Amino acid sequence: MRRRFIRALLGFFLWCVAVLAFADPAPGVATILHDVRPGRGVTRVAWLSEWFTPLAGTPADTRVFIADSGTPGATVFIAGGTHANEIAGILSAVALIEKAIPSTGRLIVIPDINMSASTWTESTKVPSWIRIDTPNGPRFFKYGARYTDPVHQGEPDPDRYQHPKGGEALEGAEARNLNRVYPGMPDGSLTERLAWAVMSLLKTEAVDIAFDLHEAGPESRLANMIVANPKNLDLAALAVISLEMEGIRMKLEPSSEVFHGLSHREWGDETKASAFLIETPNPAQSTEKGNPIEDLQYPLAGRIATHLASIEAILDAWNMDCPPDKRIAFTAFPDWRMVEAVGVGAFLNW
Ligand SMILES: [Zn+2]
Repeated sequence: MRRRFIRALLGFFLWCVAVLAFADPAPGVATILHDVRPGRGVTRVAWLSEWFTPLAGTPADTRVFIADSGTPGATVFIAGGTHANEIAGILSAVALIEKAIPSTGRLIVIPDINMSASTWTESTKVPSWIRIDTPNGPRFFKYGARYTDPVHQGEPDPDRYQHPKGGEALEGAEARNLNRVYPGMPDGSLTERLAWAVMSLLKTEAVDIAFDLHEAGPESRLANMIVANPKNLDLAALAVISLEMEGIRMKLEPSSEVFHGLSHREWGDETKASAFLIETPNPAQSTEKGNPIEDLQYPLAGRIATHLASIEAILDAWNMDCPPDKRIAFTAFPDWRMVEAVGVGAFLNW
């Protein structure tokens, strides 16, 4: 009883630290430290600016968690929080940081890849924070926005945003959408510099397989979909078949030929990585703005299970056809069936 009280007190203290960090940001400096508690697999925690120094000290710098088995194998990159309101992607990334232990290869995870987007909330109809109950007490996670904070961007939105490689002109706010500006620019807006830093990490670390975890409104065509760069569509097709056998129905699309700036397109085209984007249905992204956690049809636990199962299925497909020294294997990996059954809280550290 006393231990539980002390743990609850400690949890409250950590939450206060997170809130204070959020409430009093120094201008132009990344001050949010999300409540991420690395597990035994994590061998190093870095900042993204290590791969692109000019990002240091900006609100876009963000933590990078590396779990290196020390044994040759594939390097796998996982990003959550490209859109910081797509909470199932963020929490899937956090669960991997806290519970995954690779036995061959490396796992590189950025749970809040657009840190600036997580510092603000676009709508009063969605929560600013969400609470996840664990067996040892509650944990709190920021529910952010789709776009980089306009204050951080450092320049007004253009009337229309057009990607340098061409294509359709989009609404001006899309200039602050990380998933429209890849590969970014070293001297561009904050969002373009962030994209550039991510590309630099993918190239420098010779990432083999890269995942960008998203959510969409349940009515969206994208909900429950894997989007794959055309060069690695076969791996996604194999994964969709094995997911189907597990009772998880995922649609599959290749990256558009004409739509530039998206992770699965530019990561796959400009680096050697096989690139995938995974989408689950988030009720809070519908026009009705449902509950992002406790929806009866699309509960958060089920959406995190879908992300983890999809990653696992794609990695299994990769392992079937890769050279022996490029396998990625784990001694521990969050079990998606258990996440679905008991919730993600059981897969978070204390
Ligand atoms: Zn998204």
